[in-house]
Amino acid sequence: MNALKALAQAEPTPYWLEDPARPEPLPSLVETTTCDLAVIGGGYTGLWTALMAKERDPSLDVVLVEADRVGGAASGRNGGFCAASLTHGLWNGMERWPDQMGELERLGKENLQGIADAVTRYGIDCEFEFTGELHVATEEWQLADLAEEAEHGIRLGHDLRLLDRDAVRAEVNSPTYLGGLWDRDGAAMLHPAKLAWGLRDACASLGVRIYERTPVTAISESRDGVWLRTSYGGVRARRVALGTGVFPPLLKRLKHYLVPVYDYALMTEPLSDAQLASLGWRNRQGIGDSANQFHYYRLTADNRILWGGYDAIYHFRNGLRHELESRPETFARLSSHFFRTYPQLEGLAFTHAWGGVIDTCSRFCAFYGTAFGGRLAYATGYTGLGVGATRFGADVILDNLGVGLAPGEVTPRLKLDMVRSKPLPFPPEPFRFGAIQLTRWSIARADANQGKRNLWLRTLDKLGLGFDS
Ligand SMILES: Cc1cc2nc3c(=O)[nH]c(=O)nc-3n(C[C@H](O)[C@H](O)[C@H](O)COP(=O)(O)OP(=O)(O)OC[C@H]3O[C@@H](n4cnc5c(N)ncnc54)[C@H](O)[C@@H]3O)c2cc1C
Repeated sequence: MNALKALAQAEPTPYWLEDPARPEPLPSLVETTTCDLAVIGGGYTGLWTALMAKERDPSLDVVLVEADRVGGAASGRNGGFCAASLTHGLWNGMERWPDQMGELERLGKENLQGIADAVTRYGIDCEFEFTGELHVATEEWQLADLAEEAEHGIRLGHDLRLLDRDAVRAEVNSPTYLGGLWDRDGAAMLHPAKLAWGLRDACASLGVRIYERTPVTAISESRDGVWLRTSYGGVRARRVALGTGVFPPLLKRLKHYLVPVYDYALMTEPLSDAQLASLGWRNRQGIGDSANQFHYYRLTADNRILWGGYDAIYHFRNGLRHELESRPETFARLSSHFFRTYPQLEGLAFTHAWGGVIDTCSRFCAFYGTAFGGRLAYATGYTGLGVGATRFGADVILDNLGVGLAPGEVTPRLKLDMVRSKPLPFPPEPFRFGAIQLTRWSIARADANQGKRNLWLRTLDKLGLGFDS
């Protein structure tokens, strides 16, 4: 079948955001207000920060301001893989912080459980399913990597099962699968936008004042706090949490550390019982394949398949525009890969095709910091794995601001090397664009060449800048 035909009816909007459960936007801020803690950004980072601030100290007056709609950016349009990993996978963490990996993985598990508990506590209907994740090998060279990952992961106490070709196909039936590694408790699947909207409701229920369609246009230090200028007014806050993801940072120093990278996804129509039976997939795991350019895919509550990843597109000078959220060339590629993986689904159509921006930094997992003498704290740079890790980022922000802590108290989180260190900054343009394009080209070549990394990738690896999914 022509993979393009399957895209004929696809709406160019994020499937998740079209849901009838999407709440009406809350009013903009049209005055000047004061508060104890102002949170900028209504994605997961900002929402968790506001929510947990009230949990830590119910007496705090908390204001959250969002430029557009809560969950309208990455947080409402992602794959919904809620992973325990705080380091963008085991390898990335092992290479950077081998001595603290045990603690980082333990904190990651605790964080994932914290999300599950909050979903239950606040009655957030976000289709949360504790399914785990299946990493599949589609080329022989990937099998050894999975075996090595299993060895390290089991040593760190993870519930991992290495599957041979027959066993992985018995889980999910694709002629492309040669083996797999099932991480049984390392991830949950959820409806990303419903998580954001549910967190919005939970924040409001604890008394957080939320203003949507309220971009902060400037921030400055004042005598007794921080002043935020907004379109129709402003906020005087004692402390500020910055959760603005990849958007042009209000704090200028952050711009050297972040690049916007576009990631794309397709959603199918719901599968019939017979189509689902042809796959198996009884354990409903999220799936990721193991090349450097990888796909991620999963079932939804009504048995559609979300299919995303592979291409990661950077535009010159940090290009960030609404029209870049649609990329027909990538949609066509993703569709053809989908039917190569599941030929038995021929005839299935995609209902939605969309893209979103990832806040990429050179170490591939979030970094944290403060400004204005400790009155402002931020967490950003999740590089495509922030559904779970943003809650940990929010905890770091609150630790850095001292919310709910004794004066001078330093939490164990703040002592982690991961939290104390920063990624290497990106070079300025045009070197930035050139280096990213060369890296993409090299990664594609490595995948076509049994995973062998060329001189450029090996150099990046040595500098701690190499990405190996
Ligand atoms: C297509 C796609 C698929 C993904 N899939 C996964 C996945 O399956 N699993 C996973 O773990 N991660 C995934 N991610 C990454 C994940 O979505 C992000 O890491 C996470 O949502 C980041 O949350 P955030 O709150 O930091 O940023 P955002 O969600 O981007 O929120 C930042 C908010 O700040 C607001 N803002 C910006 N500037 C201002 C300002 N000046 N004033 C006021 N508000 C402002 C923005 O409008 C925005 O709402 C994916 C991302 C994309 C794009």
